[in-house]
Amino acid sequence: MFLLLCGTVILLASCSVTPYSDSEFMMDTQCVITVYKKSDLEKLDAVFEALRDFEKKTDRYEEGSEVSLINRYAGISPVRVSEDVFSLIAKAKEMCSFTCGAFNPLLGRISDMWNFNSSDHHIPSSAELACIVLAASDISSLVLDEEKLTVYLASDSLSLDLGGIAKGYASTLAASMLENMGIERAIINLGGNVYAVGSRSPSEGWRIGLQDPQGGGGSYFTVVNACDEAVVTSGAYQRYFISDGVAYHHILDPSTGYPADSDLESVSVISSDGTLADALSTALFVMGSVKAESFCSLHGIKAVLLSESGEISYIGFDSAES
Ligand code: AMP
Ligand code: MG
Repeated sequence: MFLLLCGTVILLASCSVTPYSDSEFMMDTQCVITVYKKSDLEKLDAVFEALRDFEKKTDRYEEGSEVSLINRYAGISPVRVSEDVFSLIAKAKEMCSFTCGAFNPLLGRISDMWNFNSSDHHIPSSAELACIVLAASDISSLVLDEEKLTVYLASDSLSLDLGGIAKGYASTLAASMLENMGIERAIINLGGNVYAVGSRSPSEGWRIGLQDPQGGGGSYFTVVNACDEAVVTSGAYQRYFISDGVAYHHILDPSTGYPADSDLESVSVISSDGTLADALSTALFVMGSVKAESFCSLHGIKAVLLSESGEISYIGFDSAES
């Protein structure tokens, strides 16, 4: 048995399968695709190219990207986008309603105020945040026209941030490309957004270790099985800064604009829909353990919740699995 260390997850495979991997740094993370037939390796170039193309369209910091144009024309005019970007944004809007606003793709301005991506952090006051929090709470300000494929932000104080959902969409896109190429077994790992294509063997799924937030990169607190499914993890430990002894992390509570005061350390969602899994892992973290557990039970969502006290809840698993 060997361990392949991959960001927030650890893929465990038996020695009977030889992995062949290719990787590229994109979407602000190391993206690794592993196949189990040497001849499949050369097919990965086309997948990485599609991922790069997707990143070019959705990176809000890339001048001229579709998302940065939507943000630039906020409060001014609708922007026509490509079909895949439109469907991602439509899904983000749907997930905002589905999670009663816990997942909200309109927090770009607020994330920018905190400046999590640079060392020049800022702790905004509640007065600074109030107006934008209010504007972002109205998801109808994200106006979509399916016929014209246009996206319009109705207020100039809003900015679209797809950081909580885009990698899940990209992993599903990569998985369907691999399947269309006839690749039966593969693992796509976009910085912890994992998609397990096929299964490890006819009788066993892939075994994916969920990183222990308290341990180093190679330690995991539990292992889940996945077969043609995404396993997506969100946690405060993934990006944060410390100021005056207080840790401020990147997952924001849309009702305050401050880092979510969650009693969860990490949330992993397992689903055949990687986009849904990504949005939900972020939303469940914001909800906290009590709401997240009842939300998952109500909607039949499979998830692993790790609380600050170290308690692990397996929701939607068969009793044999957990
Ligand atoms: P994830 O790692 O998938 O949980 O996504 C976290 C990223 O999503 C952050 O770095 C922000 O870009 C964005 N984000 C933060 N809070 C939220 C939220 N409540 N809803 C949607 N996206 C968010
Ligand atoms: Mg997410």
